[in-house]
Amino acid sequence: MDKWEAVVGFEIHVELKTKSKMFCGCKNDPFYAKSPNIYTCPVCLGMPGGLPVPNKKAIEWIIRMGFALGCEVADFSKFDRKNYFYPDLPKGYQITQYDEPLAMKGSVTVDGQTVRIRRVHAEEDTGKLIHTTVDGKKVTLVDFNRSGVPLVEIVTEPDIADGVQAKLFLRKLQQIIRYLDISDADMEKGSMRLEPNISLRKPGTKNLPAYKVEVKNINSFRFASMAIDYEIERQANILSTGKTPVQETRGWDEARGATVPQRTKEEAADYRYFPEPDIPPMRFTTAEINAIQSQIGEMPDEKLSRFMKSFGLNEYDAVLLTETRQKADYFEEAVKVAGSLDKTITSKLIANWFINKKIDIETVMPARFVEQIVAATRKVSMPEGELEELVKSTVESNEKAVSDYKKGKEQALMFLVGHVMGAAKGKARAEEVKKMIRERLQ
Ligand code: ZN
Ligand code: MN
Repeated sequence: MDKWEAVVGFEIHVELKTKSKMFCGCKNDPFYAKSPNIYTCPVCLGMPGGLPVPNKKAIEWIIRMGFALGCEVADFSKFDRKNYFYPDLPKGYQITQYDEPLAMKGSVTVDGQTVRIRRVHAEEDTGKLIHTTVDGKKVTLVDFNRSGVPLVEIVTEPDIADGVQAKLFLRKLQQIIRYLDISDADMEKGSMRLEPNISLRKPGTKNLPAYKVEVKNINSFRFASMAIDYEIERQANILSTGKTPVQETRGWDEARGATVPQRTKEEAADYRYFPEPDIPPMRFTTAEINAIQSQIGEMPDEKLSRFMKSFGLNEYDAVLLTETRQKADYFEEAVKVAGSLDKTITSKLIANWFINKKIDIETVMPARFVEQIVAATRKVSMPEGELEELVKSTVESNEKAVSDYKKGKEQALMFLVGHVMGAAKGKARAEEVKKMIRERLQ
């Protein structure tokens, strides 16, 4: 197998979770629709006379995506028609972007490997074909709930060498999309769809191979990885007999763990691209583009290095804590609560608890989580009388905080709690101290 070098790239479609569709006001919620064809109108049904109006939010989100992938964002961009006939495409063309995409030339680095991003563009999703049997007849039904749903298409350069690298790249891309909060990027629901293209060449050659094989119908990162490794082996076997693999589209057969031929592309289909006449080109001012860039927030890599630096975490812990924005926010909130409660609860200790106890961030509030840590780490507790004495002296020697508290400043109470906790040197529970101070002040 060392005789060949794999050249793998991806085309990835991601459904944006905007409220409405890409070019009309119809609801964008195809996965949860109660019945077929309820979120439709003349525009997304391709009726004559229906005029598309681009979704501003979708365009902003795609530009955000471009920035998050380190792309150059265009100040001029336009839509084009891609013509082909298929029953899930009511207009007979898809509105997409051809030669002036919203963003180009970015990259994603994972585990020291860089995958260059060729382009990021906007387009619309197609309807969904349902192959079934009605009255004993085999039929194909069409559901247009998904027709016109906003998509971002991300095209990579062929910089991936094998299935393992592909999986790492895909996970990173999914993480970035979820950080941006522009899509669920859920493979099972089809809101993230990927098509790897795979070919092999002699190591050291610069030119791309004369053929490539695209694989469709992949619904998990694991299958993408398996399909790529399967193709690398299959193509190497063909090449070693002196033949060239056929340029074609193959499907992933889950049951057989193999790719199978779908259709052969003798030559590229003629899509007769031309500028979409119903939508004027888009021009963005620097101020507009900068405003969108400022909305992307902290991306996973930045958050990771900040967590390592400001919380003194090792990379392993920081990776786990920044896996999702929700987890990272939760951790930061817990650190904040602990800081105002008990200085002995360090961020490292919170991180250990978070990771080892697999805390359910949906149901347990950060403050409650910190209390659990405090309670569990207090093995020795101060005799009650001694603690009572400490509370008493703290209240007596902090008149300012006491009067602030009586004026309604809840923060002053936390100050007093912190004072007692510090003096107790880890031998008291914050909740208990809080209760005791409150009682004394009443
Ligand atoms: Zn519509
Ligand atoms: Mn596309």
